Amino acid sequence: MGFITEETIAFIEAVSIVSVETGIAAYAVGGFVRELFLGEKNEDIDITVEGDAIQFAKQVARLLNLTNVQTHPQFQTASVQAPSEGWIDIVTARSEYYPYPGALPVVKSSNITEDLRRRDFTFNAMAIPIRERKMLPLVDPFSGLKDLQKGLIRIMHPKSFHDDPTRIFRAVRYQTRLNFQLEAETKEAMQTALKANVLETISNDRIRNELIAILHEQCPNNALRLLDEWNILKYIHPGLTAVHAYNGLISQIQSSLTQFALLIPFYKIVSWEVYLLGLISILQPDDAQNFLERYHFPRSVQNKIDELRVVQERDLINILEQHDHLKPSRLVELLDGLSKETLLWLMAKVSTPQARFHISLYLRTLRHVKPQINGHTLLKMGMKPGKAVGDVLRAIRKEKLDGRLITLDDEKTYAKKWIDTYLTDGT
Ligand code: ATP
Repeated sequence: MGFITEETIAFIEAVSIVSVETGIAAYAVGGFVRELFLGEKNEDIDITVEGDAIQFAKQVARLLNLTNVQTHPQFQTASVQAPSEGWIDIVTARSEYYPYPGALPVVKSSNITEDLRRRDFTFNAMAIPIRERKMLPLVDPFSGLKDLQKGLIRIMHPKSFHDDPTRIFRAVRYQTRLNFQLEAETKEAMQTALKANVLETISNDRIRNELIAILHEQCPNNALRLLDEWNILKYIHPGLTAVHAYNGLISQIQSSLTQFALLIPFYKIVSWEVYLLGLISILQPDDAQNFLERYHFPRSVQNKIDELRVVQERDLINILEQHDHLKPSRLVELLDGLSKETLLWLMAKVSTPQARFHISLYLRTLRHVKPQINGHTLLKMGMKPGKAVGDVLRAIRKEKLDGRLITLDDEKTYAKKWIDTYLTDGT
């Protein structure tokens, strides 16, 4: 069994109290149950209730003194913001049907068995009843636990991939993440669906979300290889089918990210963006343009694409690869202004250990080096407000980076000399 945090336990207790009070049955469902049986750490709990999820969520929040509840009446769902676990979803049990392949489903309120029936794979179609002081058996109408134990990915019915072709991408993720295999009939159903070109029925927005989810995985390389093996990459973009052209880069990104997670665990890095930069950087310019236009990535990605241009304009790859000795101030001049994600991409892209070391040095320490002195002190020392104040601060940072200024007094002495030499009138 996996383990869960104190906060999740408190949440489950509140759900169980509200369930008894209201007589509405509540269940932990989906990934939470799967991960629990896989013995993984589990923070992300989803709750399904056989009744009004919005009123239920409000009562749970009240009990826990949580004030932030978002409600979506049209979907009969609510999200409660827990202090450190983020948003916890409470949804009304529902059944679904797909009017045509690739369409969004039509939903109506229902019971837990019907709710589980609409899910992607049997191991995601289990529910744990939450009821105060009562141990109720696992709800597992489709033998998901058996499949989980055998390491099998099994769809719920033969037309599942036709109903929702994004399940093909989900299967790729589970196969690579859990090292599971497609059960024989599921494999056949997937092949039939792919032959019928079902992936052409889903919107670019949904494909983009699936691609992001794949790049979010621990080892996206394995998932990309599997997508290639199943002949699916062409649906994302034909330019991505030459997997061998970027396998090395993606592996290198993976090691840069792992190294950074170990060295600086508190660093927040959006890893999927680093992988995405890896993919975009290997596309031909026309393909890259077309790829970006097709998928409308968030603004944060566009900013990083602009940074790739800066990398080119500053000729950073050549400079870093050709110079084994770069002064810290020169490194800062070269790399300042680039995001952590672009720098990690660059670290994977350069081919020499010394270039990698230089980027790592910048990321870990140099980018944080700032003068202790500030503009205020410079004004007190006789400078007038204006551009020159920034110039002096930059000059001090440069000296400090190269180890020529250590203490605050060193900085003050240097500033005084600078003012006396260049700014006879203090401007
Ligand atoms: P993870 O986030 O680790 O990939 P998860 O199981 O939490 O796993 P979510 O994408 O958060 O995945 O989905 C939650 C649950 O909703 C799943 O466990 C599954 O039961 C159901 N689900 C999600 N997407 C689909 C889909 N396309 N078709 C059917 N059921 C789905």
